[in-house]
Amino acid sequence: MKTITAQDLYNFTKCHHRVYLDANGNPDEKGEVGAFIKLLWELGLQTERDYIASLGTMAVVDLQSLSVETASSETLELMKQGIPLIYQGCIQDGPYVGRPDLLIKREDSTSRFGPYLYDPVDIKAGRGWERQEGKKPRFKEHYAFQILFYRMVLTRIQDAIPRMARIINIDKEIEEFDPTVFEPAFEAALGQTNRLIAGHDSSEPVLGSHCYLCGWFQRCRRWVADHDDPTGLFFVGKQKFQLKEVGLRTIQDIAIMDVQTHLHPPKKIHRMGEKSLRRMKERAHVLLANKPVIRPGFSFPSVKREVYFDIEDDPTQNLTYLYGLLIHEANQPPRFTYFLARRPEEEESTVRAFWEFLANAQDDAYYVYSHKERATLKHLMERYHLDQEVFQHYVNREYDLYKDLIVEYSDWPTFSYGIKHIAKLIGFSWRDTDPSGANSIAWYNDYLAHPQNEHLLNRILVYNEDDCRAMVAIKDYFEKMRSSAYDT
Ligand code: SF4
Repeated sequence: MKTITAQDLYNFTKCHHRVYLDANGNPDEKGEVGAFIKLLWELGLQTERDYIASLGTMAVVDLQSLSVETASSETLELMKQGIPLIYQGCIQDGPYVGRPDLLIKREDSTSRFGPYLYDPVDIKAGRGWERQEGKKPRFKEHYAFQILFYRMVLTRIQDAIPRMARIINIDKEIEEFDPTVFEPAFEAALGQTNRLIAGHDSSEPVLGSHCYLCGWFQRCRRWVADHDDPTGLFFVGKQKFQLKEVGLRTIQDIAIMDVQTHLHPPKKIHRMGEKSLRRMKERAHVLLANKPVIRPGFSFPSVKREVYFDIEDDPTQNLTYLYGLLIHEANQPPRFTYFLARRPEEEESTVRAFWEFLANAQDDAYYVYSHKERATLKHLMERYHLDQEVFQHYVNREYDLYKDLIVEYSDWPTFSYGIKHIAKLIGFSWRDTDPSGANSIAWYNDYLAHPQNEHLLNRILVYNEDDCRAMVAIKDYFEKMRSSAYDT
């Protein structure tokens, strides 16, 4: 019998096909786990260890080293005995197997074990509640589904519904949420997870930026190419299921579609107007021709000094550790400079030094390749009460090559418009053999653990400088295309 775990429910919230492949795929087609994923695992474990250590003399029975079978019978025995705190116990009911980080006894209710019951709690290396400007706070669905899964299994084991739905976050705070809000979605997800794991449903790959860290990436990429699947196009994603329902099953179908047909029932595509459909059709042509298209109308700021700017940060620690700047001035060779926090404690002094740089730079144009730089600087400004005028001056002089140039004025024969894809298509190459933001985070954490390994910092700097150089290459490419358009 195939088992179904809380991790499967977590994965379901990210990608349905992954749930199918993990249970039914050919393991030989699954790639190695990357350094960043290993770092996340280690961070998760460390967060749990830190929390358990913070409980001091409180008695905790630790079952993490036991196999599923042994931990399962041991957990049941400990629950019967009424042990107050069980770490990494195992709860099982039919195919459902869960290992909540903590089972916490509470004595304000009864269960089949006696005048008490157990609540499941997970210890997370993150926060449960997400707060975004202008939006209602939301509890993370992937955390909630795991807790609801444990609650379901525990209810059957102890014959009583757990009282609370909670996690302990990275700051060792308890975060509570209302499980009833998630119950309908959880029930539907559980039903579909059962079908996927049993192989009665396979779903299909939905290629996107979320795939880079997945072990099945190369397999899914091949599948998408072999099937001429719509997710081979930029910006299609989950919408492909709707496209397929109205007969747009391949990129070829999209390339020859009659846009007017899909603006009205019965073939109307929800939330896709004429402009979006025409763009999607153009992208299909670009992909089939395997040649980018650059549209006219773009311009660049006319300044004495251009700064290509890229931040490296570690969201797992909420830490920004590098501000890399490639400076281009007329009649001078490009110069790379940077502000680096060698230790997390140096984050504030580093950003203050960078703020000084911004305050002293007058009319520079700042080229970036995402909204991340602006969002990170705003976050740091608020955290360290930095001068808002400096930030506003930066904002006024920032040029986002991704949003304001690549997406707006061009189409590319690739599913992702990330800098790695676009720069490689125009012939740029990184000096590092495995360049990625996720690896930069892994290298930085490796350096923190082994500060004698100075070469790790150097690897980050070379990678960051090349990201800046890739931006230069993209801008140069567009300028060249514009000049050649004027020449003809
Ligand atoms: S590569 Fe992407 S589509 Fe394929 S299983 Fe992983 S997340 Fe899903």
